[in-house]
Parts: sequence; C-alpha cells; structure tokens
Amino acid sequence: MMTGAEYVESLRRRKPRVYYKGKRLAAPYDHPAIAPHVRTAATTYDLARAPAHADVMTATSHLTGQRVSRFTHLFWSVDDLLKKIAMLRLLGQETGTCFQRCVGLDGINAIWSVTFEIDRAKGTDYHARFRRFLERVQREDTMCAGAMTDTKGDRSLAPWKQADPDLYLHVVARRPDGIVIRGAKTHITGAVNSPEILVMPTLGLPAEGADYAVACAVPIDAEGLTLVFGRQTNDERKEEDGIDCGTRFGIVGGESTLIFDDVFVPNERVFMNGEGDFAGLLVDRFAAWHRANYGGCKAGNADVLLGATALLSEINGTAGNAVVKDKLTEMVHLVETNFAGAMGASALAKQLPAGNWLVDPLLANTVKQNVTRFVYQVARLAHDLGGGILSTLPADADFANGEVGQLLRKYFAGKQGFSTDDKRKLVRYIEGMTSVSTLVEALHGAGSPQAQRIVMLRQADLPAKVALARKVLGIEK
Ligand code: SF4
Repeated sequence: MMTGAEYVESLRRRKPRVYYKGKRLAAPYDHPAIAPHVRTAATTYDLARAPAHADVMTATSHLTGQRVSRFTHLFWSVDDLLKKIAMLRLLGQETGTCFQRCVGLDGINAIWSVTFEIDRAKGTDYHARFRRFLERVQREDTMCAGAMTDTKGDRSLAPWKQADPDLYLHVVARRPDGIVIRGAKTHITGAVNSPEILVMPTLGLPAEGADYAVACAVPIDAEGLTLVFGRQTNDERKEEDGIDCGTRFGIVGGESTLIFDDVFVPNERVFMNGEGDFAGLLVDRFAAWHRANYGGCKAGNADVLLGATALLSEINGTAGNAVVKDKLTEMVHLVETNFAGAMGASALAKQLPAGNWLVDPLLANTVKQNVTRFVYQVARLAHDLGGGILSTLPADADFANGEVGQLLRKYFAGKQGFSTDDKRKLVRYIEGMTSVSTLVEALHGAGSPQAQRIVMLRQADLPAKVALARKVLGIEK
C-alpha cells in the first residue's frame, strides 16, 4: 500500500488533460483549487498505513491473500460492510470533508457482482477481465473514480432519442480489439486525482439502448479524455491560502465533468458492452452501497461540525446555556440517526451470487433520504448557534491590515484564552461545511431524493403490508 506522499507523486507522473476556469492546467495536482482534494485523498493512504487503524482501514484480499486498502476491497462479509462505514466515519472525522474514494470502491463491488451474473446468463468473460483489473488495482493501491452520471440532455427523452445522441455516454464503434466511447459524465467526485475512471451506465436500458450499456475502466490520461474541474462555493479563497479558505482539505469532493471524445477502450478493460438488461442492476447495487455510505462519511463530517459549533459557543460564552445544549443535542440526534441507519443497512446485508455482500437496499435508501434532510437541519442548527458572523465576518486581508487589523481583533474577541484567529477558523469551517456546495452534494450525491423514494416504495412491499393489515383487522378479500 502506498503512503499519501507516494500517492501524490504517482499522480504527478500522470499527464491528464484538465481545465479549470478557462485554462488548461499544466500541473493540476499542485493547483490551489485541486491540491486540497488531493491532500484529502492522500489521507486515506496515510491512515491505511497507521497500525492503530489497520483493522478498519485495511483488509485481507480474498483474491490475492494480501493485506490491501479497504478502498480496493470487495465486501466479503457483513463485518466488511460494518467496517467500511466505520472507516468512512473515521475519515470524515480526520478530514472534515469528502475523501472521494468510496465511489470507486462501490463501483468495484457493483461491477464485480454484475459481471459475474452477465457471464452466467450470456457466456461472456467480463468477470475474469474485471478480476485481473481488480487484482492490479489492489496490488498497486490505485484510487478509482466512479463515473456514472450522464449530462442527460432532455430528460423526457430516452438516451437514444436525444437530439444529440452523445448526451448519454455510449459505444460509437466496436473493433476486434476494443470499443470506442463518446459522451460525458458529470459531477464526478475525485476524478482529477484518480488514476483510473470506472465508467458505468446511469440507468437501466432496453434493447434499443444497448449502445448506452457500457462499463469499462479508462486511465485518467487516456487519449481523448478531457476533465473540466467544477467551481465551488468560495473557491477563489483557496487561491488566497489563509484562514478564509477553510481547512487544508477543502470542501466536498472536487467534482469534474469528464468528456470522452472517441476514447478507445481495449477489450481487457471492458466489463459491459451492450447488456442493457443488466445496466439497471448495476446502477441499483452501486446506489445501495453508496447511499448507505452517507450515514458514515456525513456523520464523521458532522462530528467535526458539531465540535466546531460547540467550541464556537464556548468562545461566545454561551456553551452553558440550556437552549444551546439542547440544539447541540438535536445535532447529535440527527447525526447518530444517520449513522445507525448505515450500520443497520450493513448488518442486514445479503450475499450476492458473485460472493460479495449487498447492504439492505430499503435501509440504505432510507439513510440517504434522511441525509438529504438531516444535513440541512444540522446546518441550520450550526447557523443558528454560530450567528450572523458566519456570513459577515471581514476578510483575512482586513485582519492583516495595519490600520484596521488590530481593531478587528479587539472587537471580534471572545472568551479569554481564545484568540480571534481561533474564532475565525471555526467560523470559516462552519461556513464552508454548511455552504451551498456542501448541502447540494449531500442532497444530490449518490442520487437525488426522489431516486431514493422510488427504491423505497419498490422495496417496502406495500401489498405484503396490506395483507398484514387485513389479517390483524380481520378484513376479508
Ligand atoms: Fe465517500 Fe461520502 Fe465523499 Fe461519497 S460523499 S465519496 S461516500 S466521502
């Protein structure tokens, strides 16, 4: 397994085509917009090397018998799934933000399970190909991004009925040695700093949409692949590099839009090529695993947010107030409800034909549905307790100014024993972690709220519940 520094060095050897704010970046991993996200991902490597965290951060691969990062490991038991949620909470606590690697991990598990079932039904050899790919990923400790969401054009039309057929990624040519793909994937977390991109379909597809049913692995610097790094709330502050920019880990995951302009993918990297009847299964499984995650990573982030809010209350001299304590208690309740759901979804997992274990889809989707609400409620409480300073605090430059800086320090002072800079750091962290970028990520990441409700209703088995009511109440058919 690599150290964080080795991971960063390995990235610098790559030459991806990355654009940000209208310019192609010659050294993307050192750019202030991207470097914080690289540092966050690097933490996943460093913690995996720390003996104190070995049980949670690493696992024994059933493919090779070697100890590997849990971020490259198949979920081979309920215990693996429970430890994954524990790992996400730990990393959320250590970084206070999104550490990006879980999308690839869930993609690995989804492709592993579905390729097994495609091969069994159709006599293809995708699973063996994917196994070879995964063994290398485990051996080299490769960070993989998961690229699922298409740009989708006119959402009332199927992919193959769009005015521009490229609005969903699809196969445009099949050659004896591989396929050529064209299209775009958007909102892709950690893509710029992932050496491998796992491309997956975005929805289930009938026979007419077979060309859109494609799963494959594409190197970050493949010919024809362009990445455009997205903007975030307050992103220009990263270029100032002071207290105003928040922590050294940035906020959310550093998302990009990936444009695949006739990218050739050799056969050994193709894991689905036209099997539309399995595309929906892949999406559902990926979504179930990833939606459960949010009860882990967001709980870890909220632990830091809660701590920051409590400490700011202390600096403000309000920590002993019963109303403040009650609001902090409400934050705890919301966070632990999400965590409990994620652990419950993992505890009720079932084994798939390919051997890995799938979280309970109903509970997993319920977790994510709760996250879409509770993260906003937690943010509201942090805003309530933090006060108006969260949106009006003067800039770093004003605090550094020879004329007004000392005056600002004097008038923004809090309880004795804390510096004004301590207070500013807390304010900026709370501001960043309750910002539009952060909240929208919690709402739409791993699928928008309505996507969870569709699965919840499907999984809830209402007819069975109606039958229960009939039986208990003695209502005949
Ligand atoms: Fe992982 Fe959470 Fe970020 Fe998704 S949002 S990649 S689950 S840390």
